[in-house]
Amino acid sequence: MGGGIGGCALALSLHAAGITDVVVHEAADGVRELGVGINVLPHAMRELDELGVAAQVAAVAVETSELSYHNRFGQQIWLEPRGLAAGYRWPQLSVHRGALLSVLHDEAEHRLGERRFHYSSRVEADDLEHLEGDVIVACDGVHSALRSLAAPAEGPPLWNGVTMWRGTTVAEPFLGGRRMIMAGVLAHRMVIYPICDLPDGRQLVNWVAEVRTEDGRPMPRQDWNATVDVTEPLRYFDAFRFDWLDVPSLIEQSEQILCYPMVDRDPLTTWRHGRLTLLGDAAHPMYPVGSNGASQAIIDARVLARELRLRSDISEALQAYEGQRLPATAAVVLANRRAGPERSMELVAERAPNGFERLEDVISHDELVAIAADYKRTAGFDPATLNDRPSLSVPDA
Ligand SMILES: Cc1cc2nc3c(=O)[nH]c(=O)nc-3n(C[C@H](O)[C@H](O)[C@H](O)COP(=O)(O)OP(=O)(O)OC[C@H]3O[C@@H](n4cnc5c(N)ncnc54)[C@H](O)[C@@H]3O)c2cc1C
Repeated sequence: MGGGIGGCALALSLHAAGITDVVVHEAADGVRELGVGINVLPHAMRELDELGVAAQVAAVAVETSELSYHNRFGQQIWLEPRGLAAGYRWPQLSVHRGALLSVLHDEAEHRLGERRFHYSSRVEADDLEHLEGDVIVACDGVHSALRSLAAPAEGPPLWNGVTMWRGTTVAEPFLGGRRMIMAGVLAHRMVIYPICDLPDGRQLVNWVAEVRTEDGRPMPRQDWNATVDVTEPLRYFDAFRFDWLDVPSLIEQSEQILCYPMVDRDPLTTWRHGRLTLLGDAAHPMYPVGSNGASQAIIDARVLARELRLRSDISEALQAYEGQRLPATAAVVLANRRAGPERSMELVAERAPNGFERLEDVISHDELVAIAADYKRTAGFDPATLNDRPSLSVPDA
């Protein structure tokens, strides 16, 4: 249940594994192109490629070929190639969440049949016993209604005090038009990347402004669609005027500003409750650090479909899925709490709060390389391992 990124990826993965008796219960009344930008990293692009939908996603996305980290003065701390430019066999795509969802949903509906998608069909924990099916997979996002069955003692998602404002702005390409940038520190930073090339040569640029507000401001509503006035994020980023990008102007020209708290949950010891398991944000909501949320949901879907197909015993299949995916995603949740690959920005700010003359006096190249490589290993997208590992597709499905 849940027809978001994870639910649609699961529907596609089950179909590809030869499991076609699938029903998706989605609370919304249809597919809505909600949200702003999202990233699909090479480890998830491999799965979308093997599901035969990579080209459709690429057609509505921007291929990100570089990532750079900067301090709050715009000084560059780190620059690395991404996707194909970094030697992966699959690209990194930056895309509007709604466009990604539409591709996954349309293809899943086409392959499985329209009647498999039930809209305005919200499932609550009490409904579990009435739901038909050998397996129930909760793909119902960070506010999962069914997660409480696997984790009865758990409270609401945990807020780290950071408020995130998100928007998209039509703008001229910056730094070559294929670059994702981050500037500042987790408590006060901007994340900016293009998600769509427009016919007139401009781009739709996604931005996220993140601030740990110290003014006793209450946690924003956990509503993906909550909008606020532009002055809210603007006042924190007035100084972010770099010679390569004018951040306040990007924020000002945004049509709509969405506001959401930065939340996650502690990793669980199990995702299972009888025939129920969890997937995606329902299983392992994580801070949007390292661009991994959607990618990990897509990989969950592929592993679960594979295990369900390869094992005759459903309980063993759910156990095998959890055995692979729970520890792997728990490591990402915890790494993201420590700022993940973006830890280098925190270290540079601590050591040189007023900027630097020479970066090498502040942090060594080896330290920067180690931070970036560590996170890729933790999140499962170390290039050599990803390129060489066997496929998750089920042979002759
Ligand atoms: C409206 C929306 C906008 C978002 N915007 C962004 C964004 O701009 N950038 C970003 O990085 N991430 C965004 N996210 C989160 C992002 O999609 C996820 O972090 C990630 O893709 C993992 O996907 P998921 O399928 O696990 O969860 P989600 O994509 O959150 O999907 C969960 C789905 O379950 C449905 N659902 C919820 N409760 C029930 C229920 N009780 N019964 C049935 N269905 C239910 C929801 O309507 C939704 O379709 C957004 C999520 C939503 C729902």
